[in-house]
Amino acid sequence: MRFGAEIWTSAPWPYRPQPLSDELLSSYLIRTAHGLSMRPVTFTNAVWGSRDLLFGQDIDNYAPTAVVDRLATGIGLHLAAVTAMTFAPWRDALDIGGQATGRKPWILPVSIISNDRRRPGLQFCPACLATDPKPYLRRTWRLAFATVCTTHDIELCDSCPHCGSTLQPHRSPSLRTCYACGGDLAGAGNQASRRIVAQTRAFERTLRDGWTEFAGRPVYAHLYFRIVRQIAAILVNGKRAEKLRQGVATTLGGDDTPFEKPNARQPVEYLHVDERRRLFDLVARLLDDFPERFVGICAQAGIWRSHIVKDMGDVPFVFDEALHLLDRTPYYPTDREVSAAAEYLRRTKGIATYRDLKTLCGESRAAIYKYMDYEREQTAPSKWRLEALAALRTAKS
Ligand SMILES: [Zn+2]
Ligand SMILES: [Zn+2]
Repeated sequence: MRFGAEIWTSAPWPYRPQPLSDELLSSYLIRTAHGLSMRPVTFTNAVWGSRDLLFGQDIDNYAPTAVVDRLATGIGLHLAAVTAMTFAPWRDALDIGGQATGRKPWILPVSIISNDRRRPGLQFCPACLATDPKPYLRRTWRLAFATVCTTHDIELCDSCPHCGSTLQPHRSPSLRTCYACGGDLAGAGNQASRRIVAQTRAFERTLRDGWTEFAGRPVYAHLYFRIVRQIAAILVNGKRAEKLRQGVATTLGGDDTPFEKPNARQPVEYLHVDERRRLFDLVARLLDDFPERFVGICAQAGIWRSHIVKDMGDVPFVFDEALHLLDRTPYYPTDREVSAAAEYLRRTKGIATYRDLKTLCGESRAAIYKYMDYEREQTAPSKWRLEALAALRTAKS
C-alpha cells in the first residue's frame, strides 16, 4: 500500500488495532507501525515529525497533548482511551504528579539518552509473551513493586535472557524479540514464590481499588504506597538497614544480603528486578500483621521512630500511630498545659507540687518551676492549700 503524506496528518490511519488489556502506549504505537509494515520510528516521524523523536522520550510516563490528540483521531478512539495507556490513571494512587520529567515514585526509569534505553525499566513476563496471540507490553511491567507476573506466577525479567541487553522494543522486529541479539524473549520463565505473588496481587489490587485495609483500617492507596516505599527504603539505605534486614531474616526469614547499589542512597526504582524481588519479599514479611511484627523487630534492632520516618515528609497518620511505641523523643508539654495541670492539682490536691507536676508534665522543667507551688521554702501553707483544708473541714462538719 502507498499513501500520500496527508494520511499521517489527517484521520484515520488505514490500520487501527484495538488497545489490549493494560497495554502501554509505546507498545500500542509499535504494534500500529508493524501493522502498517513500517519501522516504529519511521511511523512516528511521519505522523509527528522527526524534530522531537517520540521514542526518545518516555511517552508512557508522559504523553504530550499533540501525541494524545493525533492518536485519538488517527485510531478513532476517545482521548480517555489513549491516556488510559499511559501512567496518568495512576497519578493519584501512586502520587506521581503530572510533570514530564523528574523521578517518580514507583515508576521504573528507562533513562533514555539519544534514543537508547540505558536502564532496565521495562520488564516483561516471558510466559505472557509466549502465550499472547499478539505479543504486547503491559503498563504494570513498568512498576517498581511488580517483580512477578500475577497471571503466570513466574518471575519478571528486566533484560534479554540471551545477551543481557535492556529492552528497546521500538528497535526490534517484533515485541517478543531482543533488538540486540535477535533472541526470543518469550519462554517458560522461573517459578515465583507464593509469598511474593500474593504480595504483588495485593499491591495491584490496591492500585486498582484506590484503597486497602492496613493495620486494621481502610487506607487510601497513595498513603499505603508511601508507607510501603518507606519500609522498602529503610531496608536498603542508611546505617541501620543491615540491622533491620538481619532482624527480619532471623525472626521471619528472607535473604538479608546487602543490596547491590552504586549509591549510598538508592531509590528502590533503581534496583534491578532480582534485587527488588528480594526486597519486596522482606517487605511482605514486615507488612504481615502490621504493626506488631514490624514494631517488635525495629525495637530489637534499635531502630526508632525518627530513623524510620527520616526524609519521609508528611507521615501518614496510620503509620505514625503504629510508630508511637518506637518514639524515644520525650514529649514537652506547652506552657499553657503545665499551667492547666497546676490548676488541676490545686483543685484536686490543694497544691501543685514539683513532684506531681513532673509526673503529669514530664520534662518541661522551666514551665514547672514557673507554675509549681514552692512547698519547702514557704513558712506557711499556700493559699490554695489553706482553702483546700478549709473546704475539707467544712465537708467533715
Ligand atoms: Zn505472564
Ligand atoms: Zn538479546
